[in-house]
Amino acid sequence: MLRVEGLNAGYGAVQVLWDVGFHVDDGEIIAVLGSNGAGKTTTVRAVTGLLKPMSGSVQLDGRELCGRKSRAILDAGIVQVPEGRQLFTEMTVYENLELGAFSPEAKAKLAESLEVCYGYFPRLKERERQAAGTLSGGEQQMVAVARALIGLPKLLILDEPSLGLAPNVVDDILTVAHGMAKQQGLSVILVEQDVTKALSTADRGYVIENGRVALSGTASELSADEHVKRAYLGI
Ligand code: ATP
Repeated sequence: MLRVEGLNAGYGAVQVLWDVGFHVDDGEIIAVLGSNGAGKTTTVRAVTGLLKPMSGSVQLDGRELCGRKSRAILDAGIVQVPEGRQLFTEMTVYENLELGAFSPEAKAKLAESLEVCYGYFPRLKERERQAAGTLSGGEQQMVAVARALIGLPKLLILDEPSLGLAPNVVDDILTVAHGMAKQQGLSVILVEQDVTKALSTADRGYVIENGRVALSGTASELSADEHVKRAYLGI
């Protein structure tokens, strides 16, 4: 469903991504792995249009999106849960969730989607009228994931969901993403520094090093790879 080829991107004159290519099938979870500064976030930003690529191809269901504005890419069905969540802290949980329904289809299905999300995260129902900024970090991450799901994405991008969160909260979020992928065909890109967690959730993965795809394979192939073990799993 998503096919990225020959992606080159950077900031000003500084090129960060070099010929990056990967694909995600329907209902598949792929992990994008790599150390600090490897280019994971830049890859995601180039896919979502937050950063205009220098060149390359980003196709969703055969439709070329490379170079389009981020709003057009969002409308096409690629929704990202940003690193750091970016909620409107003064607004209530409900109001934040409502903002996720940006398309007419998502607006029409808002009540139904809210029930699904409250089913996954019952805590959000209890906190519906509370200002989002007063929630715990884990609860705020749940709001961010629920808000993304309310947009009825075809492809969900989770950028570093484990950042600063308790392991059980991360597990809850990954379980929801896994459930949505396997039961409803949602495709997921999981950007994660916790390689053990990422490979236990994902079907396949890509390792980015110095802005290039250094390695790719199924989660079990990557888990067994000597370089991955040494560089990322500390074994
Ligand atoms: P992390 O896990 O630390 O978030 P990452 O793999 O996501 O790392 P990126 O954020 O994509 O890495 O950064 C890749 C490179 O691009 C780094 O060398 C970084 O310094 C550089 N970079 C990122 N954002 C900018 C920016 N706004 N302006 C200039 N350089 C940037």
